Amino acid sequence: MFLQIYKTFSAAAIELFNACLLLIVYHVCLINYLCNSNLYLSMGKVAINIATGSLQTEETIVGIDLGTTNSLIAIVRQDSRQPIALRETDGLTLVPSIVHFDKEGNITVGSAARELLVQEPERTIYSVKRLMGKSYKDVSSHADFFAYKVIDDNTDTLVKIQVGEKFYSPIELSSFILKELKHRAEHILKMPISKAVITVPAYFNDAQRQATRDAGRLAGLDVLRIVNEPTAASLAYGLGLKANEEKTIAVYDLGGGTFDISVLKITNGIFEVLSTNGDTYLGGDDMDRALAAHWQLQMNISDDELKQNKSLTQQLRVTAEEAKKHLSNNDIFEADINGRKVSITKPEFNKLVQPLVDRTITSCKNALRDAGLKKEQIDAIVMVGGSTRVPLVKESIRDFFGKELFDQLNPDEVVALGAAVQADILAGNNTEMLLLDVTPLSLGIETMGGLMDVLIPRNSKIPNKAGRQYTTQKDGQSGMRISVYQGERDLVQDNRKLAEFSLAGIPGMPAGLPKVEVSFLIDADGILKVSAKELRSGIQQSIEVKPQYGLTDEEVEKMLLDSLTHAKDDMQTRALVEAITEAEQMLDVTEKFLAKHREELAEEEVNTTLGSMQMLREAIYIKDKDRVQHATEALNDVSRPYAERVMDAALKDAMKGKKVI
Ligand code: ADP
Ligand code: MG
Repeated sequence: MFLQIYKTFSAAAIELFNACLLLIVYHVCLINYLCNSNLYLSMGKVAINIATGSLQTEETIVGIDLGTTNSLIAIVRQDSRQPIALRETDGLTLVPSIVHFDKEGNITVGSAARELLVQEPERTIYSVKRLMGKSYKDVSSHADFFAYKVIDDNTDTLVKIQVGEKFYSPIELSSFILKELKHRAEHILKMPISKAVITVPAYFNDAQRQATRDAGRLAGLDVLRIVNEPTAASLAYGLGLKANEEKTIAVYDLGGGTFDISVLKITNGIFEVLSTNGDTYLGGDDMDRALAAHWQLQMNISDDELKQNKSLTQQLRVTAEEAKKHLSNNDIFEADINGRKVSITKPEFNKLVQPLVDRTITSCKNALRDAGLKKEQIDAIVMVGGSTRVPLVKESIRDFFGKELFDQLNPDEVVALGAAVQADILAGNNTEMLLLDVTPLSLGIETMGGLMDVLIPRNSKIPNKAGRQYTTQKDGQSGMRISVYQGERDLVQDNRKLAEFSLAGIPGMPAGLPKVEVSFLIDADGILKVSAKELRSGIQQSIEVKPQYGLTDEEVEKMLLDSLTHAKDDMQTRALVEAITEAEQMLDVTEKFLAKHREELAEEEVNTTLGSMQMLREAIYIKDKDRVQHATEALNDVSRPYAERVMDAALKDAMKGKKVI
């Protein structure tokens, strides 16, 4: 049975200890790890998982934006190396995220299904993304929004949608959309497509991300990565693709059903989400609804009448959207609804949607506040989502940030383009990319008290090398167990164990004397090699860490989230463990000193020392960090004067050519 590793405090101190002079130089220096803790969170991580290694494939990996309103597929062209959205013969890139079921059970997806919204509202499913990973309880307050039937049978289970006699889950419905996109891509590219990167909003939780993955699998797609939409949008503009690039950017995404503002920090190709804010029920749909409500009032249609006449509801909605889009380039819109004339001017429309735009500005302010930034500190503002085409939106955001916007790319394609860029990197085509070459989680070993001692912090570049010296805790200790962990928590029990090995055959030496150098080396393929060498005797051991299974993106994200949630607890535990470890070593050293030099000390010195040692043992027993630290200092103060005296005498003896020990 090997003892745990004891961390070296100072090599010089250990040498002197061997000469019985340690008590003087061994002054309590609590190494402050707290400030080193890796506690920041990166939702938008773009890092290779060292567990799975880099991906190499000949096949085209597509990027997919599975949107609430519209979905689309993009690839990076191998000739021009530019990302492009795939365009069908109809000339359109966007596929409305709408699924229609006819009475015979035939399924139609996209524009054709959209046409049927008015005639068959109960058989035409839209905005299914809003239901992904949700229970009825989650969506009941917005149940009116859906013209189709969202089943309310059991509030705890995931929602189902009823169409005729059949029930569908949002995952199945999304898979129909993904299947349509896959077929389109295969038709356009004339090759089978089986691998994809799919984007999700930054605020999607685990259940929603998993649902998206499952939808991909159901559609026959191997989902290589789920990427956050703001990260993808930035990649589409080339932000974060250059080495040594450091930028703080805001991604403003106003789509059909959702609003999302994310503040990202890009450093050397690593995306760190500083804050996110937004509203899952705010988007272009709300503009349509505001306008539909305006016309409903003008046309004197009662709420009851609308409720009964779903077809009229949809017609109002569709015409309102048409008007909104028209007003992005024109000043007035006119149309007929059920034989009645309706119209709206741009200033009238702006007045209707101003409160919605104001809500997005409030979210922007909150996001900046949460990121601890002033708007002047934002280097770039990326505009995403079809609704950012509304002139009032652009003007308001430009005014708010006081800067020009990144809005040259089609706002409704930019996320898919970025997903394609990410897919291209995963395919190994973009060899200059730094993005992949970082560790997703910190790597380290277990030290005394079950603490995680990080050798390679997360987000470090690969290949990488790190080393640190450790020593033994007990006299004559002949072996050391080296346990390698991955994770961000301060205690190894909360991290993931990667490997363990033993360094045996250390020659018998007093505690603290062996110098064991532990080295970590991650090669270009992401394989970690750990070796340990006792420097005095030269004995060594090494091991290659090839985990049997990799971590999924979700697991990595969960581990990072956990480290944030438990950051405070972890810091307190670490501080206590360190204080106790220090104290125990102090007690051990003092005991040894007393055993050797008792005759040279006055009776009173011995008694005060024993008293201080007792106080320290009690403090350790009750696990009070502050008391442990105070008692350790007190014992140090008591012992320092006589330790110095004994050292002086020993030095004088040494100079006379006598032996010190
Ligand atoms: P999502 O990300 O939710 O799928 P998109 O980014 O595709 O959404 O944006 C869809 C929204 O953009 C819809 O509400 C649509 O009406 C709106 N939109 C599209 N084109 C325009 C336009 N020219 N002017 C105003 N709004 C537009
Ligand atoms: Mg979108």
